[in-house]
Amino acid sequence: MAQRLFRMEGTRTAMRLLLINPRLPESWWSSRWAIGILPGKRALNPPLGLATLAALCPADWQVEIIDENVEDIPSAPDVDIVGICGMGVQFPRQRELLGNYRKRGYYVLAGGSYASLCPERYTGLANTVIAGEAEYIFPQFCRDFEQHTPKALYRETGTVALADSPVPRFDLLKLDRYVYASLQFSRGCPFRCEFCDIIVMFGRKPRVKTLEQVGRELDELRRLGARSVFFVDDNLIGNLPVAKKLLQFLKEYQEKHRYWFSLGTEASLNMAQHPDLLALFRSANFSWVFIGIESTDPESLKETLKIQNLHEDILTSVRRIYAYGIEVLAGFIVGFDHDTEACFEQQYQFITEAGIQSAMIGLLTALPKTPLYARLRKEGRLNTSDEVNDMTQLSTNVIPKGMSYEALVEGYIDLYRRLLQDSEIALRIRNKLRHLAAPNYRSVYRAHEALGIVARLVWRGILPGGLRRVGRFVSTLPLRHPSAMATVISEWVVALSMRDFAERRLAAHVRTRQLLQLSSQTSGAHT
Ligand code: SF4
Repeated sequence: MAQRLFRMEGTRTAMRLLLINPRLPESWWSSRWAIGILPGKRALNPPLGLATLAALCPADWQVEIIDENVEDIPSAPDVDIVGICGMGVQFPRQRELLGNYRKRGYYVLAGGSYASLCPERYTGLANTVIAGEAEYIFPQFCRDFEQHTPKALYRETGTVALADSPVPRFDLLKLDRYVYASLQFSRGCPFRCEFCDIIVMFGRKPRVKTLEQVGRELDELRRLGARSVFFVDDNLIGNLPVAKKLLQFLKEYQEKHRYWFSLGTEASLNMAQHPDLLALFRSANFSWVFIGIESTDPESLKETLKIQNLHEDILTSVRRIYAYGIEVLAGFIVGFDHDTEACFEQQYQFITEAGIQSAMIGLLTALPKTPLYARLRKEGRLNTSDEVNDMTQLSTNVIPKGMSYEALVEGYIDLYRRLLQDSEIALRIRNKLRHLAAPNYRSVYRAHEALGIVARLVWRGILPGGLRRVGRFVSTLPLRHPSAMATVISEWVVALSMRDFAERRLAAHVRTRQLLQLSSQTSGAHT
C-alpha cells in the first residue's frame, strides 16, 4: 500500500493523475430521456472543473479525466493520485469512490464545490482536500506532492484573479458525448438571494476572465469540433458593462467564424430591462437562457431578497426576452414562508402563460452555509437531515410556515402532474410561439441527425401516447412558420423527458407513502 502513496525518492518520473467525476443521481436536471434522443450523447455537460485542474498540473504530469456519467471508471488504474470531485448531489457517490480507492492504497484527493463549501465533511475520507478555487492552491499541492510533503487541506482564503486561470484541458474530455461544451467567463454574483450558495463560494463581486482568454477557449473548442457551448457562469450579467463587452466580443467572434457556436447561459431576470443587452445576446447567437424566477409573488421574492425580479411584471420580462428570439428556461421554488397552498395555482398560471417548458420547480431547501440555513436553524425550522443538496427532491430540510409539510409535498407533486399532461405541454408551446421571435441560430446537427432526432421523438415519445398525444403534437406543428419547427421539436423532447422522470419518481413516492401508511397501521395494531 505504501508504495502507491509515494514513489521512491530518487526515481523521479512524471506523476500520473486520474481525475474522476462521480455519477450524478438522476434528477429533473439530468434529462436522461432527452439525451437518449440525441445522437451519440450520454450527458448534458462535461466536468469543466476537472479540465481546469488538469491544466493547472505541471507540464510533465500525465493526466486522465474519467466522467462516470459517460464511461466506466477503472478499478485498478496505474496512477499515483486519484482525484475525485463533486457537487453536493454527488457527495454520496464521491464518498464511496474515495473510500474504495483509498482502501486499495491509492493517494486520494477530494475537491469540487461541496468540498469547497464543507471541507469538514471530508475528514478521514481523503488524503488531501482541495477547498476553494484551485488556481493557486492546486499547483501548491502538486509541488508538495512531488516533494512528498502534501498537506491534508489546501484552502483558498484569498481572491483568485480569473486572468490567472488557464485554458482548460478540453482535449481530455470526450466532448462528443455531451450535449454542451462548457466555458466559464465569470465567478460571483452581485445579488443576495437568501437560499443561494454561489455567493457563499464565489462572493458578490463578479470576477471575469479577459476577452483574450475567452477567445483562446473558444478557438480550442472550435478546434475540437464543439458546436453548442454553455457559459456556465451563475449569472453572466453580474457586471453589466463587462457583460456587454463580452457579448460584443462574442458577436464579432461569431461573425468571423460564420456563427459556428450555438450558445446558452444563466442570467438574472433584470436582463429584460436592457434592450441593448438583449440585442447583443441575439447577435452573439445565444439561443437560450436559464433564469431563476423562483416565484411570482412579490412578498415571497422580497422575503428571499430576490429584488432583481421585482422591476416589473415577470410575464412582461419573459416575453420581452422571447421577442429577441431567446428561449427562457427557468427555476421556481415553492415553500417560501409567504407561500400558502395558493402558491401552486399561481405557479401553474404563470408557467402556462409564459409557455416555459423547462420549468425546474423545487421545494425551498436550506443548503449548508447559506443565510437561509442560518436563519432557519435559529428559528428551529430545520429538519435534521444534512444530506439535502438538491432542491428538486421530493423532500426538504425546511419546516414550512404557510402550510403543512405534507401539503407542500402533495401540492408540488400535483403541480408537476398537471404541467406534464399532453394538453398542457401543447398549450405552453403555443403560448411561447406567440411571443418568440424567429430564432437566430443555425442547427448544430446535420440534416440526417436532425431527422433521426425527430424519428426517435415520434417513435419513442409521441406514438406511445396514443392518438390523443399524436393530435396534441400535430396541433403544435408550426406549418406556417417552419423556422419554429426546431423549437417545437425540442419543446416536446424536453417535456417528455421531464414526464418520463416524473412518472417514475412520483410513482415511487406514492408507493413509499402507501408503504409508510401500511406500516404505521400495522405498528398501530401491535400497540
Ligand atoms: S441571482 Fe442567482 S447566483 Fe445570484 S445570488 Fe441569486 S440565486 Fe445566487
